[in-house]
Amino acid sequence: MKQIPHWIGGKAFAAHAGVDAPGQGGRFGPVFDPATGAQTATVELASAALVDEAVASAVVAWRSWRHVSLAERIRVMFAFRELVDRHRDEIAAAIASEHGKTHADAMGEVARGLDVVEFACGIADLLKGGYSESVSTNVDTYSLRQPLGVVAGITPFNFPAMVPMWMFPVALACGNCFVLKPSEKDPSASLVLASLLAEAGLPDGVFSVVQGDKVAVDRLLAHPDVRAVSFVGSTPIARYVYETGTRHGKRVQALGGAKNHMVVLPDASMEMAADAAVSAGFGSAGERCMAVSVVVAVEPAGDDLVEVMRERLRDIAVGPASEPGSDMGPLVTREHRDKVASYVAAGAAEGAVVVLDGRGHAAAQGEGFFLGPTLLDRVRPDMSVYRDEIFGPVLSIVRAASYDEALELVNANPYGNGAAIFTNDGGAARRFQHEVEAGMVGVNVSIPVPVAYYPFGGWKASLFGDTHAYGRDAVHFYSRGKVVTSRWLDPSHGGVQLGFPTSG
Ligand code: NAD
Repeated sequence: MKQIPHWIGGKAFAAHAGVDAPGQGGRFGPVFDPATGAQTATVELASAALVDEAVASAVVAWRSWRHVSLAERIRVMFAFRELVDRHRDEIAAAIASEHGKTHADAMGEVARGLDVVEFACGIADLLKGGYSESVSTNVDTYSLRQPLGVVAGITPFNFPAMVPMWMFPVALACGNCFVLKPSEKDPSASLVLASLLAEAGLPDGVFSVVQGDKVAVDRLLAHPDVRAVSFVGSTPIARYVYETGTRHGKRVQALGGAKNHMVVLPDASMEMAADAAVSAGFGSAGERCMAVSVVVAVEPAGDDLVEVMRERLRDIAVGPASEPGSDMGPLVTREHRDKVASYVAAGAAEGAVVVLDGRGHAAAQGEGFFLGPTLLDRVRPDMSVYRDEIFGPVLSIVRAASYDEALELVNANPYGNGAAIFTNDGGAARRFQHEVEAGMVGVNVSIPVPVAYYPFGGWKASLFGDTHAYGRDAVHFYSRGKVVTSRWLDPSHGGVQLGFPTSG
């Protein structure tokens, strides 16, 4: 069976004869094709010693990379941009074969990652410091931003190319070395990106991939040479990564889970709102941190909205990524599919109205990890389907009596990633964007993922740390400030002065 390696020192690194070989204490995880349910590969799960090896190679690489000019770093980024553009299909195929999302969806993922690469190509302007002449007699002051050294990224299964690309282009352009620990569920896309970085001229050791699980994460969090950690994943692990990483003195940004609400006011176009809710709820089988998982219908919108959504859901083609007509692929693993399906049962038992039950879908009867779209109406906040992040094709409708009741519901939720409002009332929309407690807000936009030059991040239990991903926040996160105060020799320097320096 195919064995998926790491990427260390500028090349694929399979520890066949090393510490991770079978029979020599090595550990391996299964990788599946979710559309067929068949295992297609194994992935090496790094030991702490292997993480140490990757970090050591990054430390050595940084000794030279830190002196490489900004112009040269940007040249590498431009070359990488061209290569990713040319290899979109290959990256999308690697994503789809292990994640299960449709090819079109995977191409969208690559495109959004590429946006951040393009942002990183323009890093020069964002790394500029300030200069103040003559702040005191013959004294000038200026500020610089410098890289941190070796930084790490730990990423989730649902965007195996885009989320790493939220991180490493900016980190590398700032002058850092980067160690990526991708999800062990779909590890191949990271290796395509690593080989394209090498082809773009990135020196060996500046970018590494360690495949693995908690063992690798824990070593990265404790490693004294790792200066900063970016994490994207579920909230319990995000909290753990933030607390553990900061305890070890690292800079940490940890983006967590979500329960995104979309409020529909009665004056909205029900056709537009239903299309947007179905797209955002069921795209990528609901396995997106910006998926809409709760639609809050402000009455009397509820009945009409549910009816139009039910019609739209009938037309969704559930099938493998390899079939051109598929709109929605399988879930990532059998366990995850079964867990998501258990929420449909729980919702029904707790009194939700099951408008459409995805468990009965024809695709859900085979060996692949499929589940059809599920729509639950009259969901209440005390139900588990409302409280938990389900991360699957299950959309809940909550009925609210008024805008105020809808807002109160959204703001009482522990998560605060994205929130959207659908209305034709500009005043109501303006109030919502002002009052809602979420990091990313959509007005008649159901997936308000910011463009690459605005940062991405949620509030409350959706983010731990104080910087968001990509945009200017990333430049700040992956660099640190230094302020230089200089005086050049002048015959009138004034001699010895023991008092604290003041301007004059
Ligand atoms: P996950 O938290 O299970 O895994 C994320 C990463 O952490 C993986 O690399 C995994 O190997 C590692 N990990 C898992 N368990 C660990 C443990 N006990 N200790 C240390 N490391 C561990 O998340 P997932 O299932 O891969 O991804 C789905 C989750 O990610 C959802 O909750 C989703 O909302 C969230 N997500 C959030 C964003 C965002 O921007 N806020 C974006 C994408 C996904």
